[in-house]
Amino acid sequence: MKLWSGIVLILCLTGHAFALEPVPDRLVVLTFDDSVKSHFTVVRPILMDYGFGATFFITEGFDFKTNKDDYMTWEQIAQLHQDGFEIGNHTRDHQGISEENVSEVEEQLEAINRQCADHGIPRTTSFAYPGNQFHPNGFTELSRLGITFARRGGAPEYEYKEGKGFAYELGRDHPLLLPSAGDARPNWTMADFLRAVDQAKDGRIAILQFHGVPDNAHPWVHTPEDQFRAFMKYLSLKEYQVIALRDLAKYVDPRQMPDSYDAIINQRKLEIARKAE
Ligand SMILES: [Zn+2]
Repeated sequence: MKLWSGIVLILCLTGHAFALEPVPDRLVVLTFDDSVKSHFTVVRPILMDYGFGATFFITEGFDFKTNKDDYMTWEQIAQLHQDGFEIGNHTRDHQGISEENVSEVEEQLEAINRQCADHGIPRTTSFAYPGNQFHPNGFTELSRLGITFARRGGAPEYEYKEGKGFAYELGRDHPLLLPSAGDARPNWTMADFLRAVDQAKDGRIAILQFHGVPDNAHPWVHTPEDQFRAFMKYLSLKEYQVIALRDLAKYVDPRQMPDSYDAIINQRKLEIARKAE
């Protein structure tokens, strides 16, 4: 009897890996790309009012270094961290991952990690592919650099210009290739937003991709402030749980990889083609 109690106790004490929570319905991950100034001035106070979590994917690409009308300062990025938001890695030069440039991934990520260290921000563990460009050869390098979750866009299932996507299916989507269920566009209506977040059920998690609110430097991915407020209000009224990408670790063990990174992608493409017929 005593031996069994001891074994049970040991399992309880060491068993945190087994203590993953079941995925609730209405679970949404908010992500914001490209270090846009309005993430600090507009998005931050709105999310704080609702108590929502989010990941801000930071790059020093574009004219981040000189254009402080349109891009945050590192002090503002540090404040986002202090407010409880996650700071994620979007590479120094906004460089996507291709078969040819995997050898540059370390330099690109470590430049952001060094800035984080200099500003009291923890080393990044979440990554978003710049331009939503990925290559499976990058997985090993991302893992080695400490990345546990990486987010792509709605492609390749949907074309980039549509801003559509699928919700994350645990165990079927690769943790380093998590799809955006929606990638907000200037003309997005509430119906577009609902198509993304309504997928957050039956064990699926809707990961949303936003850019600036507004986004003067990248007008093709701009979101008007009124529209963004309406989206966030909807999530609050419908009692969605809104978290950062790193918080997925509560629900999923990122070390568990599907056998194939693209089986689920190909299956969805077939579904889309079948529906279109
Ligand atoms: Zn970007």
